[in-house]
Amino acid sequence: MPHVTPPATQLIEALRGAVGDAHVLVEDDMRAPFEIDWTRRWSGRAAAVVQPGTTEAVAAVLRACGDHDVAVVPQGGNTGLVGAGVPRGGPADGSERREQVVLSMTRLVGLDDVDAASMQVSAGAGVTLGALQVHARAAGLDAGVDFGARDSATLGALVACDAGGIRALRHGTVRARVAGLEAVLADGQVVRRMSGLLKDNAGYDLPALLTGSEGTLGVITRVRWRLVPRHDARALALIPLPGLADAAPLLRAVRPRLASLDACEFLTDDGLGLVLEHLGVPAPVEPRAPAYVLLEAAATADPLPDLADALEAAGIEDAVIADDSASRERLWRLRESHTEAISAAGVPHKLDVGVPLDALAPFCDAVRDAMPAGARTIVFGHLGDGNVHVNVLGPDPADGSVDETVLRLVAEHGGTISAEHGVGVAKARFLHLTRSDAEIAAMGAIKAALDPRGILNPGAVISERTAAG
Ligand SMILES: Cc1cc2nc3c(=O)[nH]c(=O)nc-3n(C[C@H](O)[C@H](O)[C@H](O)COP(=O)(O)OP(=O)(O)OC[C@H]3O[C@@H](n4cnc5c(N)ncnc54)[C@H](O)[C@@H]3O)c2cc1C
Repeated sequence: MPHVTPPATQLIEALRGAVGDAHVLVEDDMRAPFEIDWTRRWSGRAAAVVQPGTTEAVAAVLRACGDHDVAVVPQGGNTGLVGAGVPRGGPADGSERREQVVLSMTRLVGLDDVDAASMQVSAGAGVTLGALQVHARAAGLDAGVDFGARDSATLGALVACDAGGIRALRHGTVRARVAGLEAVLADGQVVRRMSGLLKDNAGYDLPALLTGSEGTLGVITRVRWRLVPRHDARALALIPLPGLADAAPLLRAVRPRLASLDACEFLTDDGLGLVLEHLGVPAPVEPRAPAYVLLEAAATADPLPDLADALEAAGIEDAVIADDSASRERLWRLRESHTEAISAAGVPHKLDVGVPLDALAPFCDAVRDAMPAGARTIVFGHLGDGNVHVNVLGPDPADGSVDETVLRLVAEHGGTISAEHGVGVAKARFLHLTRSDAEIAAMGAIKAALDPRGILNPGAVISERTAAG
């Protein structure tokens, strides 16, 4: 009888041919860290984890997966918070059951010299944000994006998610940093616009289309990154407030007076208390207050006098000021440790949303009121962007009604169900709450045109039924 190779073995052989034996992980313990997300809410089984080292190898992997009708889940540093960087668990999260391969992009770490004239640099998709920051600063510039997961999060994923972070107020989200991209489409074709030309409106803007597509339209292999001036002189203020409703008027009073405003974050005492407990550190201010705003100014010369003037003009009398790097780091740690401290306390319902600035406090109140008895609701985020991170501890993480309640409140307050983390698989079924039928149909048509077999990150962003038209 002729020997027939089973389909799974054929796939693994094709993947080994594409990236080399050493870079195809098939054993359970080797795959395991790639199969569960940072929050521990999302997991699934992959036939293999592949780790290509070149754009050509990425293209070969996509062709092999297309030939075998296998889904591809692109993954960077696996710090994503909406479940779209790990294999799907099954139909319950909107995906069909078929073999999946994790395409780990962390070996694409080439980083070119900085071009000071254009203030741009070309980088592999697997370069971490932290590595880009170090590289840019050595050239007297900066990345223009920053957030807590900087040492794991990768540039390809930052672009794929149109990430935001604490500097979006000044420099925009990652979309504003993209001067060009190289990416592999579902059929293995490579599209490349890496010249970095400021003015280039020849045809549709494919880099703009891929930005924020969360691995559903193409796999980003290289990024032409637009850098920003480096501002080493910094001053930070933590301002206690009687309530969250006082935060928006504060920003409104300060912003026009403070050209060097670099970040404006908000937290509440519930969140701060959890962080203090988690880190085992004392409170930065006594007496504690219901809410706080963290304002950072950054410039080439000391911005402290301007910050102090702006606070005085806003009628702020009490603020903790940090103008040396150690005390600034201490205050930033209290803000940046929220995600970690919440995860250490349990598996939360975690929703990244955006609302107009004036709706932020009423929205947070409405969320707290709508949560089941005994739930611990912690909100914090990027005030300047109207970006709220809602975390609810207590209710069963599998109870979808909590997420739905929060997202319906977002829609009622004129907001968006995703501000910076992405829609992922976590929120795909809620996209209609803040996107019209016509918009979703257009997204489905784009998906069907670029990925007709639906192999790229199925179930993320738009449901597979929509994607199939
Ligand atoms: C402590 C903490 C703080 C955070 N703070 C912020 C914050 O302030 N702002 C913010 O925006 N995010 C924040 N995040 C979320 C997360 O870090 C970002 O979404 C980041 O962009 C994910 O990078 P990653 O390399 O870990 O991507 P992954 O988790 O590996 O993947 C994320 C998504 O991108 C896709 N993807 C990955 N690589 C590629 C590629 N090369 N091509 C196409 N698609 C790809 C994946 O399929 C997935 O859909 C935070 C996360 C943590 C854990």
